[in-house]
Amino acid sequence: MPEGDTIYRSAATLRPAMQGGIIAKARLRDPHFEVDRLVGATVNGVEARGKHLLMHLSTTDVIHSHMGMTGSWHIYHVGQTWLKPEHYAVLNLRINDLEVICFSPKQLELLTADQLRRHPHIQQLGPDIAANSEFDVATAVGNLRSRNQTPLGEAVMSQRLVCGIGNIYKSELLFIMGFDPFAPVEQFSDDELHRMLQKGRALMLRNLGGPRRTTRFGSDAGRMWVYGRSGTPCPKCGAEIKLRRQGEAGRTTCWCPQCQPAR
Ligand SMILES: [Zn+2]
Repeated sequence: MPEGDTIYRSAATLRPAMQGGIIAKARLRDPHFEVDRLVGATVNGVEARGKHLLMHLSTTDVIHSHMGMTGSWHIYHVGQTWLKPEHYAVLNLRINDLEVICFSPKQLELLTADQLRRHPHIQQLGPDIAANSEFDVATAVGNLRSRNQTPLGEAVMSQRLVCGIGNIYKSELLFIMGFDPFAPVEQFSDDELHRMLQKGRALMLRNLGGPRRTTRFGSDAGRMWVYGRSGTPCPKCGAEIKLRRQGEAGRTTCWCPQCQPAR
């Protein structure tokens, strides 16, 4: 599952290559949709919304992609060697002297403006924690509160409540806050939830510009506190970092039982 900052970076990289450009050619590996609808369209904008990437076209159509675990968009000059095998390329757009290629997406579809307005996965997203403009933290706290019985580590990953948080930020953020990932939301005050979300947003925004994601700033001991470090000593207290699968989807949660005591 990609983190919100990954999608924002993708949009920021794609924007200068695509925005204002005309799609001169379009090639689609499988018939997901009518690819001819793309040719001749101008790309009006590239937008990140939670974990979804939206390319708005002058025809009012929208290319919607969700990268899942494996997907990525690449930009190449025509004739340049690709970094991924050709058979992973699902959509290839020619814009000016560039090829913009979507590899192995979890989901790729062409939506009309009306389909976008009614899209169940895109329209039912909670406030976007990595949004450039504003983040409605009060609504996000209220959304979490509506799921009081859900363990915090599952609730913060529910994109309908607050969107943009994946496995990495979940583990890191709850560690930084000292919050038990397995305690239900009702165990946390509004103020605690508020502070947690603001902290998560700050971490993400700080990572939008940097070369590699990190949640430990000014430290020489690694980029992450607990994520990917199960079985090793906690950087704060030395206790062993644990890993457990959590929720219906079995997402991994890494945490320190001592720094994040059970509530
Ligand atoms: Zn610890």
